[in-house]
Amino acid sequence: MKSICPIDELCATQVAALLQPPPPHLVEEYFEHLLTTKKCHAIKVKQNGEFGKGVYANMDFREEELILKDEILLGHQHHSNKLDCLVCSYCFRFIGSIELQLGRKLYLQNLGVSMDNEGDVATSAHTSEDCCNTVSSDEENDISYVNNHEIMGDCVSFSSKTEVPLPQGVVESLLNGELKLPYSNKLPLPSAISCPGECGEGYYCSKLCADFDWESSHSLLCTGKTSESLSREALSKFIQHANETNDIFLLAAKAISFTTLRYRKLKSTRLKEQEKHTTSDELDQSNLSLLLEAWKPMSVAYKRRWWDCIALPDDIDCSDEVAFRMQIKELAFTSLQLLKEAIFDKECEPLFSLEIYGHIIGIFELNNLDLVVESPMEDYFSYIDGLPHPEKIQAGKIARPFLEALGDDYSVCCQGTAFYPLQSCINHSCCPNAKAFKREEDRDGQATIISARPICKGEEVTISYIDENLPFEVRQALLADYGFECRCSKCLEEEP
Ligand SMILES: [Zn+2]
Ligand SMILES: [Zn+2]
Ligand SMILES: [Zn+2]
Repeated sequence: MKSICPIDELCATQVAALLQPPPPHLVEEYFEHLLTTKKCHAIKVKQNGEFGKGVYANMDFREEELILKDEILLGHQHHSNKLDCLVCSYCFRFIGSIELQLGRKLYLQNLGVSMDNEGDVATSAHTSEDCCNTVSSDEENDISYVNNHEIMGDCVSFSSKTEVPLPQGVVESLLNGELKLPYSNKLPLPSAISCPGECGEGYYCSKLCADFDWESSHSLLCTGKTSESLSREALSKFIQHANETNDIFLLAAKAISFTTLRYRKLKSTRLKEQEKHTTSDELDQSNLSLLLEAWKPMSVAYKRRWWDCIALPDDIDCSDEVAFRMQIKELAFTSLQLLKEAIFDKECEPLFSLEIYGHIIGIFELNNLDLVVESPMEDYFSYIDGLPHPEKIQAGKIARPFLEALGDDYSVCCQGTAFYPLQSCINHSCCPNAKAFKREEDRDGQATIISARPICKGEEVTISYIDENLPFEVRQALLADYGFECRCSKCLEEEP
């Protein structure tokens, strides 16, 4: 396929340098450093010939023991999931309160709000006006209501009005904090802090998360007043396109923004160090080395071009494969041009090549990267269920109508995609010795890896990317989407 992106050719050398897999000793050094900063000594990441990287136990583990908690490097909540769960945009912890989570979901459910037809500005404006009209006059000065209202109103629009299962007043009093549910204080959630850039889209569990997000990527991708993007309008267009086509573009934009901001930070440090004695020629040289340094967390990730590695959907005929892949490539190019309008930086130009964009999206396509955080609603209703008899009856009377109004999906998890630098190094096995498993206390988006059986020091840690109980052929077909053929002991044994 001939390239459709001029930057691919313009920056061919730099792009090739960025996509060159780093030598094994540099990869090991990077993870050594990462593990030291996390004060994690339980594992090691080693390069092994046959499978690329692997994670190895650096101590003995008993069964069901915590091996690793892996922080998200880049992550996002799926667009459609934002209706169900209000979570911190950085650590993905549920925020607000049980009442707010419940009220918000009921409110949007009552309005028949859907994420499908977002972007119709006129309709969304109409929606927010409508919401305001339903607020009774005595609530006009209630700041908490206004804030909550903001939380609900953004990024949503109408589809159709459905029946209101609970009286509107009840839902409103949940939202403005007037109605307290019994025992909800047993499951306190951190209060929601809005984005310092005032985009009304990002909410956080703490100032710390807000600051981390701002510094790592959001300052360039915020559509609010203090956004550091080139154009907030262009940014909104990019976001709208991603929401209408594939929200994986938002995560790719985060990766580019993250690398650009890292580059700028590295550069300002470098400039301070060697202010006087550098010629401009040397600076040009070092710009690439700085960009390579800023790109390092991405460089160690396994990646291929998105349009080459994306699994062919079931409804696409094999004979249309070439056309399908070309279409995907063109879609990525359209998205990239919109992003470029919004956050282009000449010094980081290679990052805006289609090659790099495609490979970044490929990282999210190929690695095992589901982000899941359990909802506190499940815990809340189980708590009530577990109360001694008289209390249970009493609390149940109040809570039951809400449970019924919510229906089956009363406790939808926070769902998204994230890049976990260490978890993504753990190789697959159909008889794994570890598993990704959230314990009671794991309340944010971090990946938690637990041993499934005793593991000896030096042994490779493996997890299953798929349901390992499926038949051999099905497993192999699913793993082919990850780009490899499994040769684990179970597969060797079951191979026909
Ligand atoms: Zn947080
Ligand atoms: Zn913002
Ligand atoms: Zn296998």
